[in-house]
Amino acid sequence: MAKTYSIAIDGPAGAGKSTIAKRLARELGYYYVDTGAIYRTVAYFLDLLGVSPKDVDGVERYIDELTIDIYYDEDGLQHMIMNGMDVTNEIRTQDISQKASLVSAHVCVREMLLDMQRELARDNNVIMDGRDIGSVVLPKADVKIFLTASAEVRAQRRTDEMLAKGQKANFQQTLKDIQQRDYQDTHRPIAPLKMCRDSVKVDSSDMDIEQVIAEIKAIVGKKITV
Ligand code: C5P
Repeated sequence: MAKTYSIAIDGPAGAGKSTIAKRLARELGYYYVDTGAIYRTVAYFLDLLGVSPKDVDGVERYIDELTIDIYYDEDGLQHMIMNGMDVTNEIRTQDISQKASLVSAHVCVREMLLDMQRELARDNNVIMDGRDIGSVVLPKADVKIFLTASAEVRAQRRTDEMLAKGQKANFQQTLKDIQQRDYQDTHRPIAPLKMCRDSVKVDSSDMDIEQVIAEIKAIVGKKITV
């Protein structure tokens, strides 16, 4: 079987991982795997059942009743299918962001999702973004990027994004949410967000999207001949 390539992009919430990864995947002809969407699907499922994301027993009891399927449409958009139902749009709320962060700290959840993520990378060239891709999911990834930006810049970008979509947004609240998620994601005992020794750090605080893409393409170009 031909070798498949994998590019891991990890970093905190709102660093621009998905925007960058999507663009790069399109240019390289790779699959873009948004692993945050998988954790969001778990959080949404438990939320519908009324199970608190902090309830260890509840999460363990119901997790086996969840089946997750992923498919990509012609535009390369990743659809999340929860027990046969497409929940791609429903999982994109602030409430589910917070719950996904709490749910993702449970061992049973991380174990369930690990194989699913690895299988996607085994059969396809992928750009996968998340928190633990370089450290746990794909430790042998061909390229590892740690994409970050200051919490204030990330909160401002998120606020602008939501306002542009016509949604309500408040900078201070968004900043608080981002800081809380940063804390949870970096302090959990299993697979916390951290930069690997072999990752290349890109701080996008003072860069626009085009500059970030150019920098990441240059890093990828040194490791993978495309
Ligand atoms: O990337 P996104 O903001 O959609 O992720 C939602 C939450 O899922 C994160 O705050 C994080 O707690 C969790 N997550 C994770 N590991 C990943 C991807 C996401 O723990 N690889």
